Order: sequence, then structure tokens, then C-alpha cells
Amino acid sequence: MANILTISIVIPVYNEAPVLPLLFAGLEATLAQLEQTQGPVEVLLVNDGSSDASWSLISAQCQRDARYVGVNLSRNFGHQRALAAGLESARGDVVISMDADLQDPPAVLPQLVAKHREGYDVVYATRSTRGKEGWCKRITANMFYRIIEKVSGVTVHKDTGDFRLMSRRALVELSRMREVHRFLRGMVPWIGFPQTQVFYDRGDRQAGETHYPLPKMLALAFDGIASMSTAPLRLAYLLCLLLFSVFLGYILWVLFDHFVYGSELVQGWTSLMSAITIFGTIELLMFGIFGEYLGRTYEQVKQRPLYIIADVERSATTKDIPLERLQPKTDAESRG
Ligand code: UDP
Ligand code: MG
Repeated sequence: MANILTISIVIPVYNEAPVLPLLFAGLEATLAQLEQTQGPVEVLLVNDGSSDASWSLISAQCQRDARYVGVNLSRNFGHQRALAAGLESARGDVVISMDADLQDPPAVLPQLVAKHREGYDVVYATRSTRGKEGWCKRITANMFYRIIEKVSGVTVHKDTGDFRLMSRRALVELSRMREVHRFLRGMVPWIGFPQTQVFYDRGDRQAGETHYPLPKMLALAFDGIASMSTAPLRLAYLLCLLLFSVFLGYILWVLFDHFVYGSELVQGWTSLMSAITIFGTIELLMFGIFGEYLGRTYEQVKQRPLYIIADVERSATTKDIPLERLQPKTDAESRG
């Protein structure tokens, strides 16, 4: 009995109607294989406020196939919170999160489970190739992973997205982190427990369009850095030290000029303007960064729920699943 593993697969879905039929077909063989070799499998599709036919496709699939459960959020909460909704609604001993667009190939799922069987609580699926993604996305992604590791002090595996397996105990710890600005790629390594990775070739989106154009990627990157560290706040010291050393030379020169050469000429328009501009800009920049952290603190202290579930869709044959387990946790519960 101990060998039987209940597996939940969590997939956030936002306007993915073109790809959903391909996803259901693509999952079929893997689900059958997992059921045969590991145990029962459930697939949680979290509809993140799609405006297309995604939810009706999900509902239909749940009626057709008892392994599927649909979780419909009350509006679009964003990828990271949709993931939270799915992970916290999942009932498996292990929970795997993956994207809807088949960029995360289902064939990798058994490898993740096999690694978990070796004793790992978290197994990341890491891309060894990145499909047809442009050089710009590659370079920015590379830079980003380097910065985040430096500032956060935890190992964030490069080229590892939100395709990963987590054990129940890792998930319980993750659920205790009620951060409003969520960056799971940093939060999961932070948890600890034995963690490892498997490699796979990342394909291209099978249909539909990416929801992460460059500006949104940059926002996620800043979220990542701000949620993992307060390093940007310390930037003020660094800039202050740097500028002080530059301007110290200039001040010494001005004093020398006055007392030794007795220079009384009114000079220094250029240097005065540069000093005002540089210090003014840096002050504004630092205000901006302080403000950003202050805003995040404000959003956090409000303690709003991370997501709101509107409906849960299951087939009639899965009636035995207690509905309350699919409801979001109350604050008291989630604080443990
Ligand atoms: N997604 C979501 N809510 C959003 C945006 C995206 O649930 O607001 C889902 C989307 O349906 C997909 C996953 O997050 O399953 C990753 O999105 P996408 O494939 O567009 O990102 P990319 O792979 O291009 O980085
Ligand atoms: Mg994708």
C-alpha cells in the first residue's frame, strides 16, 4: 500500500481555448502510465478568469473524465496566484505544476515522479533547450537568474520555470507563505528539504500566444528580486559611497584652489549643475525603491485572500471528493 502514490497535476489556464484539446490529448498516455505504475491521478485545471471558451472546455472535460477537476477563479488573478489556488486545492501525495501550452511535455512527468521516489521533496524540470525563444529572452533570463541567486542567497536553478514536483510536506510549508507578491521560483528553493532537477527539451507553445511579453517578464523579475531580498534598499549606501568618493576629490581641489592660490573667481556652474542633477536623480530613484517596498508592505498587511474560487467542477463519479478540501484555506488555517 505504501507504494501507491496519489498524484495531482496542477495546470493554470488563462485564455488557452486553442491549446486545451491538444493538452487533454497530450496528457492521455502519461496519465494512463502514471495510473498503472504509481496510483490514482487527478488533474486540476485552474481557470484564471479566461475570457474565451476555456472554462466551458474544462467543464466538459471534467464531465467526460473523472480524473479532471476544474477550479474556476472569480477573475484573473495572475499565473502565480492561479498556481497557488491549484496547489492548495490539490489532494495528492505529490503535486506537479505545469503550463497548459504543452511547452512542458507530459512525458517528463514520470521522470519527476521517479526522482521523488529516490527521496527528493522537490524536483524541478529544467530546460536544456529553450525552443524557438528569441535571444533577447535568453539573455535577460540568464541575467535575471544570476542576480536573483546573488541577492537571495538561495539556489534558484537556471532555466527552471514553474514546472516542478513537490511532496506533500513541501507543499504544506509553501502554503504557509501567504505572500501577496509571489515568486514561486524563489519561494520553493527557500523551503529547503532535498531538492533536485531533471532536464528536458523545452518545446514551443502548441497554440495560442504567450502571456509573458517583455514588460510582464520584467515585472516578474522585479517581483522576484523584491520578494526574495531587500538588496535594492541597500543600493542607497552603495551609491552614496561611490558618489562621495568621486566628489571628495572635487571638494579637496576647490579648497586647495581657494586657500593656496587664493582663487576668488566664481566658477563651477557645470560642476554645480552635475552635482544637483546626479544627487537629485539618485534621491528620486531611492524614493521610488522605498515606495515600492512600502507599497508591498501595505498590500501585505491588508491580508486579502490570494485568490477567490467561484466554482469547482467535477464529474458526477467523483462525488466522493469532499468539497471542503477544494475550498481556500481561512487565514487562521493558513497561518497554521
Ligand atoms: N497563465 C495564467 N494566468 C495569467 C497568465 C498566464 O494562469 O494571467 C497561465 C497560462 O495559461 C499558462 C501559464 O500560465 O498555462 C504560462 O503562461 P505562458 O505559457 O503564456 O507563459 P510563457 O511560457 O510564454 O512564459
Ligand atoms: Mg508557455
